[in-house]
Amino acid sequence: MTEPTLTDHIVIAGGGLAAQRAIETLRRNAHEGPITVLCGEPLRPYDRPPLSKAVLAGELDAADLTFRPDEWYAEKGVELRLGRHAVGLEPDAHKVVTDDGSELAYDKLLIATGSEPRRFELLDGRPNVLPLRTAGDSRELGRMLTTGARLVIVGAGFIGQEVAATARKLGCTVTMLEAMPQPLVGLLGEELGGWFADLHRAEGVDVRCLTTVTDIVEGPDGRVDAVITGHGDQINCDAVVVGIGVVPADGWLAGTDLGPGGVEIDAAGRTAVDDVFAAGDVARPFDERVGARVRSEHWEAAGRQGAAAARAMLGLDVPMPPIASFWSDQYGMRIQQLGYPHLADGQEEDGDRDARDFSVTWTRGGEPVGGLLVGRPRGLPVLRQAVEQTFDNDRKETVTP
Ligand code: FAD
Repeated sequence: MTEPTLTDHIVIAGGGLAAQRAIETLRRNAHEGPITVLCGEPLRPYDRPPLSKAVLAGELDAADLTFRPDEWYAEKGVELRLGRHAVGLEPDAHKVVTDDGSELAYDKLLIATGSEPRRFELLDGRPNVLPLRTAGDSRELGRMLTTGARLVIVGAGFIGQEVAATARKLGCTVTMLEAMPQPLVGLLGEELGGWFADLHRAEGVDVRCLTTVTDIVEGPDGRVDAVITGHGDQINCDAVVVGIGVVPADGWLAGTDLGPGGVEIDAAGRTAVDDVFAAGDVARPFDERVGARVRSEHWEAAGRQGAAAARAMLGLDVPMPPIASFWSDQYGMRIQQLGYPHLADGQEEDGDRDARDFSVTWTRGGEPVGGLLVGRPRGLPVLRQAVEQTFDNDRKETVTP
């Protein structure tokens, strides 16, 4: 690792939340060298969560999601290369190769290319089939979701569920297909997952679990006029959203020691390669609390990791991050989750599920290791403190002779 200086040329591949937090942290901490950002999209760094919510509902324009105006980057001496992709990395030469065939030399590199939607070959490339990742996706889908439009959502994860909630608000007919026995089974288990299926059913969504798409009825111009499920049912549709998860956007790092499956980092965003850092959805950090690599695909962790990597690039200390949470907004209700439900051997519940006002605390040996809050946005700090206490106690016990 080269000694950090305040005049280092810092290149950031990817122009999302993690990149933005890194830029702000660098400039706040007296870094004055050039910063060059390869933004794969045609838009300045912007915030993604409203894409499935207010933007899709037509209440907000995607252009309003940008973190800062053009002048801010100019004032801060940050060069944004919009629509430009990193396509290769030469770590020994300290160079990134870009999609116009040129090379960009760096002193320090931050990989912040985020994640990209997992593809479903059968539906890929059809004109009325979309993932939901970018401002462009949200705008295009929004145009299709007119009142009465028939929408099929493949995958009942949080993105699929948010799209379902917004589409119902817009007066669409929505069918949501889930391959597993219930939505969110991997995260919440079948019983709680079932609550989410019922939530959407109560709002008029036709939720079908243990159901996959095995064929389509093709219409004009290659459009999907209907999907055929594994049970042989035909569901006629005007639009299809594929929300079957994301994968780290690390394909461009092929041939290096970084990825695939996410770029491994320590708590300060350092990778195994000298002067190369990573943050956000593309990264696979080591979580000291549980002694394992845990890749997050959520906002809070991405922002924090961007800031942490910037500090490490400047040689500043990086404190242990708080346990990251994430949220989802559906039908005017906030859902929040935090911690490590997979470590639990027990569960406590409080509140009223029918009133959409309850919390679940997952416990191990009676101590909280994670929680879910439904309709209780103010409960998060208390939950976080309780879960962190569990792991702090664990660490103290481990080091006490
Ligand atoms: P991104 O924001 O994905 O930014 C990466 C950028 O890099 C993108 O612009 C991409 O185009 C670009 N890029 C990719 N490859 C290259 C390349 N080779 N060269 C140059 N540029 C490249 N999280 C929550 O906690 N709560 C929510 O409610 C929530 N809602 C969401 C709703 C939607 C529709 C989406 C898509 C995500 C949502 N998230 C939510 C997740 C959250 O937005 C992400 O975790 C966060 O954006 C990750 O930030 P990032 O900087 O790592 O990646």
